[in-house]
Amino acid sequence: EGYCSPSGPIEHTSCAYETIEQVNTELFPKIHELVEHPFFRYYKVDLFRECPFWQENGFCMNRACSVEETEESEIPEKWRSAALSAVTVSSAEDGPSSCYFRDDDFCFIEDDSTPEGQYIDLALNPERFTGYAGDSSHAVWRAIYKENCFGLSEAGFASSAAGRGGKGAKEVLASAVVGAGGISTPNDNETCEEKKLYYRVISGLHASISIHICAEYLDTTTGEWKPNLQCFVNRLATHPERLSNVYFNAVLVLRAIARAAPYFRAYDVGVTPRATLGKESCSTAAGDKATRSLLDNVLSIAERSDIASGFDEAAFFQGPDAPILKEQFKTHFRNVSRIMDCVGCDKCRLWGKLQVSGIGTALKILFALDDKALDPKRNPDLLQRSEVVALFNTLHRISESLNSVEDFRQIYAATQAAE
Ligand code: FAD
Repeated sequence: EGYCSPSGPIEHTSCAYETIEQVNTELFPKIHELVEHPFFRYYKVDLFRECPFWQENGFCMNRACSVEETEESEIPEKWRSAALSAVTVSSAEDGPSSCYFRDDDFCFIEDDSTPEGQYIDLALNPERFTGYAGDSSHAVWRAIYKENCFGLSEAGFASSAAGRGGKGAKEVLASAVVGAGGISTPNDNETCEEKKLYYRVISGLHASISIHICAEYLDTTTGEWKPNLQCFVNRLATHPERLSNVYFNAVLVLRAIARAAPYFRAYDVGVTPRATLGKESCSTAAGDKATRSLLDNVLSIAERSDIASGFDEAAFFQGPDAPILKEQFKTHFRNVSRIMDCVGCDKCRLWGKLQVSGIGTALKILFALDDKALDPKRNPDLLQRSEVVALFNTLHRISESLNSVEDFRQIYAATQAAE
């Protein structure tokens, strides 16, 4: 009965569930194709950073947890670390545009220009069921939800747990992990809007990951990958608020992309090296043009007026305590990106890092940058390639989740009809 079909306005937004679903039917095929294009499919990430908060022994030995790396020689030259570190050096001398807003980052950015990290072809490493579960994964989720702690009395905690690997951070999080009984949800009566925002974003990410697990589940008896309806019922369908948070994240990320659309329109998403522009072969020129055109399609969908005005970032971080709350929010979200180093399964860590970085980039666009900062002429180096890749792949993850919800509705209807 009305199985997982929410309707009406999504709380904290002026968008209806139905609008997002309708937009997603248009968005999903485009973004699904876009992330297959070279600019969006290669991601450089350091999967071997130590967990800074506790001793992580829960390494997942399943084959499904492993990540296939790509040789640097397969990556278009202009995105390799040597080329990027050369660009960084020269642009650092150009004045204030480069590295202008690093302090405003909501998460630790994977830096493409450093030698650390591995190149990953995301298309070869789909996010799906890996078998990673139990104490290790629960400790990570619990630590992430424990970061949802705001308030002026907590200002000292925020600075001590600033996530820079200091002793304070380690102690605070260790006690959070060991001492926590369950996962806390914010109490509506006494919670500030920013705390609810944090919770919704995290719960939406968690729910989206759960949907991917259920949508591509390994049937261990047949060795087949297929949707698992019971998994979806247990984790999502019986928890409508989790599902609602996925829709909320869709609105938030689309709003961020719409806000920065002029910046993305000017972003170089082509494979062709700058030095050979104009002399490029027909195939690379056509490929670059196709990437550009798909990106423009996605930007236009995000800019649709009913979506772009669906989330009002100006409603948050107002009032006398706003600067402190914003600083705390940023600190906590940065801690979440450090907690990702504690995920004991390479594949889960890869997608966890990417999505935290994507949401962090959306939060930065919404809450830390004004129109002047987002002006591509004034600030061309504002976002690193890794942030752009993470943001659009995160939109793809959310869009695919919403698409899978529709698939599960149909699977459910078919099972009902068969009974
Ligand atoms: P969990 O999903 O571990 O949830 C723990 C508890 O959190 C639940 O009991 C419930 O109380 C609460 N909860 C659950 N969902 C929500 C929500 N949306 N909002 C609020 N509270 C909630 N496994 C894979 O197979 N593939 C992956 O790609 C993968 N990626 C992961 C990435 C990260 C960053 C992490 C931490 C884990 C990942 N895992 C992945 C593991 C997966 O998320 C689960 O932890 C695992 O499947 C065990 O699930 P569970 O049913 O015990 O509940």
